[in-house]
Amino acid sequence: MTLRKKCPRCGKEKPLDDFHHSDDAADRHQGYCKKCNNERQYEPGGAAYPKKRS
Ligand SMILES: [Zn+2]
Repeated sequence: MTLRKKCPRCGKEKPLDDFHHSDDAADRHQGYCKKCNNERQYEPGGAAYPKKRS
């Protein structure tokens, strides 16, 4: 049996393998799937979002 979880960002139901592990989360997996987590880094507020442009 493969547990699945719906990602609220892309709206797709994915296997838990597609979610990063998180000890803070109730189900031990992050809320967003790996793909969305990666993309979110480049959006405003994300870790890889360029804060200044020179
Ligand atoms: Zn997603």
